[in-house]
Formats: sequence, structure tokens, C-alpha cells
Amino acid sequence: MLADNEIDLKQAELTIDWCAWVLDQGHPGTSESSMAKVAVSEALYRVADRCVQVLGGLGVTGDSPVQQIFRDIRAFRIYDGPSEVHRWSIAKRLKKEWRPAA
Ligand SMILES: Cc1cc2nc3c(=O)[nH]c(=O)nc-3n(C[C@H](O)[C@H](O)[C@H](O)COP(=O)(O)OP(=O)(O)OC[C@H]3O[C@@H](n4cnc5c(N)ncnc54)[C@H](O)[C@@H]3O)c2cc1C
Repeated sequence: MLADNEIDLKQAELTIDWCAWVLDQGHPGTSESSMAKVAVSEALYRVADRCVQVLGGLGVTGDSPVQQIFRDIRAFRIYDGPSEVHRWSIAKRLKKEWRPAA
């Protein structure tokens, strides 16, 4: 689980760097921002969830900060646009850009 956390954290970091780079080029980055928000919020949720699991009962008590982090990170999948809405927006763009194979 610690290794999976490291993989999720690194992928989240790289996704944020990629999205920031797109924005730095002057592009609106609408789809890239949606992709980054979905990928990172869901990756961080998995990380927090594994931290709870690793700690067992301690992870769901107030005796460690993990419970609070888990609660806070859960909201990330809602407050910057629910994941479902970002996915809807990405899919809408894909449908708009779709062209039949030549
Ligand atoms: C901790 C926190 C901080 C916040 N801070 C801010 C802030 O600083 N500024 C601000 O403006 N707002 C803020 N918000 C509000 C936040 O932007 C909204 O909660 C968010 O946009 C979702 O809107 P809603 O709560 O009305 O949920 P709804 O729009 O009612 O959505 C509820 C659920 O319905 C589903 N859903 C909605 N639309 C679709 C769709 N098209 N397809 C499939 N499923 C769908 C999703 O699963 C979604 O989670 C904050 C919210 C929280 C929890």
C-alpha cells in the first residue's frame, strides 16, 4: 500500500506539472484542468484511504491526523467540480472533435 501511495502521488505530481505547463503556454487548458482535477482528486482519495487502512482502527479515530485528512480529501472530488461533471465535459469535447476515419 505504501508503494501504491508513492505511485499515485508521483502520477498526481506529474499530472499537475503537465497541466501547469499547458496553461503556461497560454492555452485555456479546459480539458487538461478537468483531467488533472479528476485524476489528482481520485488519486489523493486512494492515498488517504490506504493510510486509514494501514493504521487499522487508529486510522478512524481522532488520535491521528489521518481521519481528518481522509475527510478533507474526500471533499476534493466535489468542491472543484464533481468528478462526474468533469468527465461529462471531457466526453462532450471528445464527441465534438470526433471525425469519421478517412
Ligand atoms: C468543502 C467545500 C468547499 C467549497 N468551496 C467553494 C468555493 O470556494 N467556491 C464555490 O463557488 N463553491 C464552493 N463549493 C461548492 C462546490 O463548488 C459545489 O459543491 C460543487 O460544484 C457541486 O455542486 P453541488 O454541491 O450543488 O452538487 P450537485 O451539482 O447537486 O451535484 C451532486 C452530485 O450529482 C452528480 N452530478 C451532478 N451533475 C452531474 C452530471 N452532469 N452528470 C453526472 N452526475 C452529475 C455528481 O455526482 C455530484 O457529486 C464548495 C464545496 C465544498 C464541499
